[in-house]
Amino acid sequence: MNKIPIPETERKWLRCPHCGAKTILYSNIAVCSGVYVKCTRVCKSIFEVKIENGKQVQ
Ligand SMILES: [Zn+2]
Repeated sequence: MNKIPIPETERKWLRCPHCGAKTILYSNIAVCSGVYVKCTRVCKSIFEVKIENGKQVQ
């Protein structure tokens, strides 16, 4: 039996944990770790994208 997939209903901006700038979009069903993004807005720092249960973990 396959699990019923949770529908993608919402997309949110992943924010830079250092300056709060919007970086990339993720959905409510996203799961992510080990992916790094460079903040291109303000602080130019590189941080890990950690998403569990559709929420950004910092
Ligand atoms: Zn930043």
